[in-house]
Amino acid sequence: MSERDKHAAPHRARKRFGQNFLVDRHYIQRIVDAIDPRPDQRIVEIGPGQAALTRELLTAMDAHCASGESASLDVVEIDRDLVARLAAEFSPERLRVHEADALEFDFSTLASAAGDGPNAKLRVVGNLPYNISTPILFRLCDFEQQISDMTFMLQKEVVDRMAAREGDGERGRLSVMLQYRYRVEKCFDVPPGAFRPIPAVDSSIVRLTPLASARLRPRDETRFAQLVTAAFTQRRKMVRKSLAAWVSGEAWHQLGIDPEARAETLSCDDFVAIADLRL
Ligand code: SAM
Repeated sequence: MSERDKHAAPHRARKRFGQNFLVDRHYIQRIVDAIDPRPDQRIVEIGPGQAALTRELLTAMDAHCASGESASLDVVEIDRDLVARLAAEFSPERLRVHEADALEFDFSTLASAAGDGPNAKLRVVGNLPYNISTPILFRLCDFEQQISDMTFMLQKEVVDRMAAREGDGERGRLSVMLQYRYRVEKCFDVPPGAFRPIPAVDSSIVRLTPLASARLRPRDETRFAQLVTAAFTQRRKMVRKSLAAWVSGEAWHQLGIDPEARAETLSCDDFVAIADLRL
């Protein structure tokens, strides 16, 4: 089969890469509107797939370009067949395709390639493969300094956990680990019918914006992560019991935290105060 015929045949969605492709034009446009990309920004899309979002992101950016100029963006795609299709459709100046696993990709190289200007930081977007969405979110935390915001489509339940506030039943490790770094905003839901193949779950769009650097941060990030894991591993217990190894009797009073509270009612600042207690 020639290269051309190969790309004319429809791509067969691969489950192992979490491939559910967006086909509904209404939702594609709403997502692009929510991102509001500009040609002078460094946009990186994770998992472009068959370019449903990619094409419209470029079109939206082109609309802000001076006449005769056109926008470009970076994409990170793991599926070699899709990489070949992208390379066949877009010129390398228009689309810089990085064939890579986003879990291992060094996003800082793209930020440094953008120089030191006001838009040197990355705007990361994507309809993420649901099977690895949490590891990707944690991986991107490593590049917090190089990222100006992130807009993702994820499974609705995951977005509800990411955005859950103190006291919400869905609040857990993911909520705290993201909210002490980012403002987490759920934008809107996307129904299963907007994709092919149709997934078994609902989806939502979420935006993450790094908080100001002046914000309260733990002195030891590893210790903080261990604390949050310990608290939510025994989420039904009162913190006096689940965190007995971290805080002793009197110290709860000193911290201003009710020892009979459950982990889901604690704020990010409460967790930072506990993690810093003996440092
Ligand atoms: N953006 C496209 C759309 O909205 O139609 C495709 C979305 S599909 C849910 C997820 C995409 O991520 C697929 O193209 C898949 O091949 C790609 N992908 C899966 N795992 C990946 C990984 N570890 N690194 C980079 N891309 C990945």
